[in-house]
Amino acid sequence: MSGPPVRDDLVGKQPYGAPQLPGVIQLNVNENPFPPSAALVEALSAAVREAGPTLHRYPDREALGLRFDLAAYLTRVTGVSLRVQQLWAANGSNEVLQQVCQAFGGPGRVALGFEPSYSMHPLLAAGTSTGWVGVRRADDFTLSAGDAAAAVQAHRPAITFLTTPNNPTGTALGLDVVRAVHESTSGVVVVDEAYAEFGSSPSAVTLLAECPRLLVSRTMSKAFAGAGLRLGYLAASAEVVDALRLVRLPYHLSTLTQVAARVALAHTDELLGTVEAVKEQRDRMVAGIVELGLTVVPTEANFLLFGPFEDPAAVWQSLLDRGVLVRDVSSAPGLTGWLRVCAGTPDETGAFLSALAEAVGVR
Ligand code: PMP
Repeated sequence: MSGPPVRDDLVGKQPYGAPQLPGVIQLNVNENPFPPSAALVEALSAAVREAGPTLHRYPDREALGLRFDLAAYLTRVTGVSLRVQQLWAANGSNEVLQQVCQAFGGPGRVALGFEPSYSMHPLLAAGTSTGWVGVRRADDFTLSAGDAAAAVQAHRPAITFLTTPNNPTGTALGLDVVRAVHESTSGVVVVDEAYAEFGSSPSAVTLLAECPRLLVSRTMSKAFAGAGLRLGYLAASAEVVDALRLVRLPYHLSTLTQVAARVALAHTDELLGTVEAVKEQRDRMVAGIVELGLTVVPTEANFLLFGPFEDPAAVWQSLLDRGVLVRDVSSAPGLTGWLRVCAGTPDETGAFLSALAEAVGVR
């Protein structure tokens, strides 16, 4: 008996799967370590209680109230005035990016990314039968406008991914790179700004007026401390958003998701108040790691790449044996020897630094 008749192009592929291990300090998926306040939990409960009696009805298919709030937030932080028709939202920015691949990729089309970068981009391409071209960044993980433009001219992708700050390197891109790529392609350019709030670089949202095929994706999973909320969003032209509406499932955002995300957005100042604390712990990590004689790649995110190690898997295991889970990214192209860790609470950061000192035999 053969197995189920899975699509030929999926046979042998591995699902995305960072370990989820209860009982250890989890610094491996770039979450915000600070939980919601009691006041926010109370507001969430009240909003869910209010929405409860309406659950026999489908949610607002267009999530207009939520998109309006997201437009207001982005306008506030970027200074760019955005209409609700320019905003789109889905269950995590992963779903937003999947919809982008469904609408703009597909059989016979190619997506391009600058690696090492977010490992889901090629997986989302594969899932939508979109070809993938991975172009290597420079050895220090930077990407110049000239190199990026040359790559898209050579490969003519339907979708180009630019991730800033980049996961897993933390490297930020200048707007000159976004402009140069947009000028050099007739496809769409997706700037994945999942970690933007932790950085100091200007947002690609500021280029939307001059770049009609530009899409900027963001998430409430990181700076908004809402990974469990599953809410990602995108700003683009109204025409791009209309294309995404062709491929989204009807009622893809549940009533509870829409309600919870709007409550979280109403608490923006409180939630983004964690950003400085996260950066403080990240900088403490950078200093502690450098003190151990290791290298940290310059980062504008809530995580950092550190190493290089001769045997990164052994260091990863040794940290886990001491109760700290980090990400072993060392098998990805261009990342031989490197591990990634995200900022924790002050206690978690301290535990990580002590475990690392022991793991590398300094203490
Ligand atoms: N983009 C990047 C660069 C990421 O690192 C992540 C999460 N690790 C995402 C998008 C997706 O995040 P979410 O689906 O939680 O919004």
